[in-house]
Amino acid sequence: MSTESAPATKLDLEILPTPHPLDDAERAARIQNPGFGRLFTEHMVVIPYAAGRGWLRGQLKPYAPLTLDPAASVLHYGQAIFEGFKAYRQPDGSIKTFRPEANAHRFNSSARRLAMPEMPVELFVSAVDALIRQDRAWVPTPVGESLYVRPLMFATEAALGVKAASTYDFLVIASPAGAYFPQGVKPVTVWISEDFVRAAPGGTGAAKFAGNYAASLLAQMNAAAEGCAQVVWLDAVERRYVEEMGGMNIFFVYEEGGRPVLVTPELTGTLLPGITRDSILQLAKDFGYRAEERKVTFDEWRAAVSEGRMTEAFACGTAAVITPIGAVKSREGTFTIHNNETGPVAARFREELLNIQHGLTSDRHGWMHTVA
Ligand SMILES: *Cc1c(COP(=O)(O)O)cnc(C)c1O
Repeated sequence: MSTESAPATKLDLEILPTPHPLDDAERAARIQNPGFGRLFTEHMVVIPYAAGRGWLRGQLKPYAPLTLDPAASVLHYGQAIFEGFKAYRQPDGSIKTFRPEANAHRFNSSARRLAMPEMPVELFVSAVDALIRQDRAWVPTPVGESLYVRPLMFATEAALGVKAASTYDFLVIASPAGAYFPQGVKPVTVWISEDFVRAAPGGTGAAKFAGNYAASLLAQMNAAAEGCAQVVWLDAVERRYVEEMGGMNIFFVYEEGGRPVLVTPELTGTLLPGITRDSILQLAKDFGYRAEERKVTFDEWRAAVSEGRMTEAFACGTAAVITPIGAVKSREGTFTIHNNETGPVAARFREELLNIQHGLTSDRHGWMHTVA
């Protein structure tokens, strides 16, 4: 049809600022102790999609509850994906995000797996930039604090037939994030889940798909009942290979000839390809450490620790950056790693990542994206 516009790749947003902005004192009071993901900024972005028309004109508007048809297919059949990354205040007061294009590409691979529309990378990144610019006063300053942005997409079509929906909403919301470990980094105790799996070959494990997290909650509750902070997932087929810790990727640190060797489970299609994981593999090269992506069994983990060949283990992801693993509990018992203390390799990666993100060391890989 000649009246149809070409699919939008450039951001086209109607800007509707809140008529009741918070004053600086009130906002500062709220940011004081934000925790994680409980407090949201004053605006949000909503961009609708319709099959045959593409991405339509969106809105940047006051943060508010949504109106959704009770038959919206996301509520029944669960087409919903998300992303998460952070904006950091720089020493000169400007604001940058960390590798947002990588999140855009991953968002699109999640979209493909869930039969949802892809979004041009430029549109994804500029929609997030627009929200951060509008709410820039919400980006905290201290190192370790940031503004967490959460892009998401879900099916809005009101139809109970089981099929890929024809309409979707893309949203961006943002939440100031405090230091994940306000009392200093503390290793966690993890529970090896032998009853439940997170992802199976051919399934949705490599997508940031909402249902994966719903399916993980019972195992997480079991871990908590065992006194553990997180669950460690094994592969679905052999139940031997370590895949991930909760919603984070895992690294093992071996020592060979007095040098650290990094090992992380390879991306088999059942792991979520973390951007922090990818960045740590790059930093390992910078540090001159050998790094391997391969399968690691739980038996190897336990044996390598008891023989003193493995000196540290840690998990990594956007939210907590790096979380050392201090103790590992399973039905067969518990073992500790590095005396249940944060090891030097985990600490080094954590500091280097935070320094790059906060502009305290050179951005030698071009990871930082200037927003404002
Ligand atoms: C998001 C996520 C990660 C970490 O990805 P980052 O890009 O590093 O934040 C790891 N595992 C799962 C299951 C995830 O959802």
